[in-house]
Amino acid sequence: MLTSIVGINWGDEGKGRMVDLLSEEQDIVVRYQGGNNAGHTVINERGKFVLNLLPSGILRPDVVCVMGNGMAIDLAHLEGEIGRLREAGVEISPANLKISDRAILTLPYHVQLDCLEEERLAGEKYGSTRRGIGPVYGDKYLKKAIRACDLLNLDYLAKRLKGIVAYKSLMVEGVYKADPISYDEMLAWLTKYANMFREYIIDTGIYLTNAVKEGKRIMFEAQLGALRDIDFGIYPYTSSSSTIAAYAPIGSGIPGIGLDNVIGIMKAYSTCVGEGPFTCEWFGEEAEELRRAGGEYGAATGRPRRVGPFDVVASRYGCRVQGANEIALTKTDILSYMKKIPICVAYDVNGVRTTEFPMGDALNVAKPVIEYVDGWNCDISGCRTIEDMPKELIAYVKKLEELVDCKIKYVSVGAEREAYVQMF
Ligand code: GDP
Repeated sequence: MLTSIVGINWGDEGKGRMVDLLSEEQDIVVRYQGGNNAGHTVINERGKFVLNLLPSGILRPDVVCVMGNGMAIDLAHLEGEIGRLREAGVEISPANLKISDRAILTLPYHVQLDCLEEERLAGEKYGSTRRGIGPVYGDKYLKKAIRACDLLNLDYLAKRLKGIVAYKSLMVEGVYKADPISYDEMLAWLTKYANMFREYIIDTGIYLTNAVKEGKRIMFEAQLGALRDIDFGIYPYTSSSSTIAAYAPIGSGIPGIGLDNVIGIMKAYSTCVGEGPFTCEWFGEEAEELRRAGGEYGAATGRPRRVGPFDVVASRYGCRVQGANEIALTKTDILSYMKKIPICVAYDVNGVRTTEFPMGDALNVAKPVIEYVDGWNCDISGCRTIEDMPKELIAYVKKLEELVDCKIKYVSVGAEREAYVQMF
């Protein structure tokens, strides 16, 4: 059984929380794209954990975690993340963590270039998290990235690095007038991490192909959401990787194998970190109240998230491009303070009402069409069965289900592992 867990919206839907819950039934959890530019927050009986690179399954002792070839891995960040988890008693070794030999590595100069470019763009910036993700994916397609397998042969690494550093220095020095990159420092950095991670690096394609043959249950965990996908998202304010479910087999090393199940994680209201069009955006006190209620500050950067009501147009599009066959609706408890709950049911684009998600400049000028439904206006955090749910909450779930055209299977009512209702 191959299941993918993906974001329907702009990210921060609570994917980590749902993977943590649903990974109980899994043998393997794979991260297949992105880097440490976003974070999953997981709260369970072992504590509160922020995971940027590691798959959320790492918190379950019986689950093997795989970091796939579609990822961009900053090994210094990974060292820190593993260190923090070990301090909390989580065991991590080559037995339960496998790094794809084809994964690209984010180096210090990628982070430097990311910052230099955002500073150059100033007021026009893309809202990069400045973790080097754009530059390292750019290098992947320019065929100038270092991959994990290069760490397994230090002579070959040294030779490749020489040419790459010379090329990158041209950019750092010539374009941005910054100091050239030190080859010796980069080689020392990479050698340090080669020694640290050598035993974790394998051909995860072979590992996962065998796991599929053995009938293992595998879960693919995405970072960010459909609207940040490089192809289908709000380009250029997207991430630099494919955040959609269809990329899961490719980014994991088993491109010929299809998924059995795609669970879309959808938030009961809208949030967005960084720049770009966000049609439903609220401002002022209304926004502050929702942001405070939902604790909407970025897990990786601490930035306040932009917030607004549930957006049917964007979410229906998100369900479609993800190919979700069921939904987990998260953070419904955050709406408990509202007497009436606003829903953006359509966009008005230059006077024309539409429910199809627009692209390019049409998205920039789109205005939300809002309808209100009754709120439940009571504490729902203790709901564990449909019988416990107030009728307004059931009605809200049914309405969203109908509007986005996908079944809602789980309704999350709190951050804790058990705080959810299974609808069917
Ligand atoms: P991810 O990147 O999609 O995993 O999302 P984040 O971790 O950035 O954001 C989700 C946040 O909401 C985390 O702090 C979760 O612990 C929390 N969370 C997830 N589901 C719920 C829920 O149903 N209710 C509440 N109150 N918090 C939730």
